[in-house]
Amino acid sequence: AAKNDGRNCKRYFTLAMQDKIQKRLSLSHELRSAIENNEFWIAYQPIIDLNSGLIQKAESLLRWEHPELGNVPPMEFIPIAEESGLISNIGDWAFEQVTLQTQLWLQTFPQDFQISINMSPAQFRGERTTHKHWLKHLKKLNLNSKNVAIEITEGLLMDMSNQVMAQLDSFDTAGIEISLDDFGTGYSSLSYLKKFHIDYLKIDLSFVKNLEADSDNMALCEAIIVLAHKLGLKVIAEGIETTKQRDLLIAVGCDYGQGYLFSKPLSAVDFEALVRENLNEP
Ligand code: C2E
Ligand code: MG
Ligand code: MG
Ligand code: MG
Repeated sequence: AAKNDGRNCKRYFTLAMQDKIQKRLSLSHELRSAIENNEFWIAYQPIIDLNSGLIQKAESLLRWEHPELGNVPPMEFIPIAEESGLISNIGDWAFEQVTLQTQLWLQTFPQDFQISINMSPAQFRGERTTHKHWLKHLKKLNLNSKNVAIEITEGLLMDMSNQVMAQLDSFDTAGIEISLDDFGTGYSSLSYLKKFHIDYLKIDLSFVKNLEADSDNMALCEAIIVLAHKLGLKVIAEGIETTKQRDLLIAVGCDYGQGYLFSKPLSAVDFEALVRENLNEP
């Protein structure tokens, strides 16, 4: 009987795997038409200056509203977009949307403002040169490049190819700020912080989680902030969910905070309303 169970189990596992592969295949097929079918939209999550309490930045986050499945999380569709090579087109679409929106907001918000956009390593590779396209687009909009930041991950910095270096350099030369996202979760060596011009370290939310009770996480956050400041970088803490976490991070000199405590990622309309509220009562 045990043997039979084992066999059934194995068969079930294979079916589950087949199911998963099938799902990926159909998602990758549907991703192809998602732009033209208007299924993507951009969510904006505020980034708060912890000294003033003001919303000074926002991270743009891609959302896919699938006609049957509803909201498909980026963790599911971004890897598929990367593997299928669709990420370049999707990323360009997102960049155009985000920069247009930023330009509108700069005309209506009284304070200076910066929006960041996530970039996958795949957007730095291949025939296409994303940076040329993006810089040309900024010029066309007449948008100041300091109002835009890109978020990259440590994985990209392990790829020391000339192609990657040249693109990062040209973003930097153009005045676009660079954030190192999910800091502390990758395998990169700290020497990359010297080699590349990075402006912000984003402390990964896994270090912020449980900060109240976990003294190791507290030590890590404090050490990252001290290191960043010595190197002339600013720090953004991700995933702040409680006032206690916020206060502990302020106490160790963290510059900016992002997380559900302040707001979840919002539609452009809701984000704009939140900024107006924030300005009236800082
Ligand atoms: P990320 O860049 O590290 O984005 C932060 C993620 O943390 C977002 O998940 C955000 O919704 C979530 N988050 C923010 N505050 C909190 C909090 O207080 N608690 C918790 N538990 N989570 C919080 P999201 O939107 O699901 O995005 C996941 C990842 O997908 C992003 O991680 C990024 O790597 C990727 N991604 C999203 N949009 C884009 C895009 O336009 N282009 C590319 N290439 N990647 C993107
Ligand atoms: Mg990010
Ligand atoms: Mg710079
Ligand atoms: Mg992150």
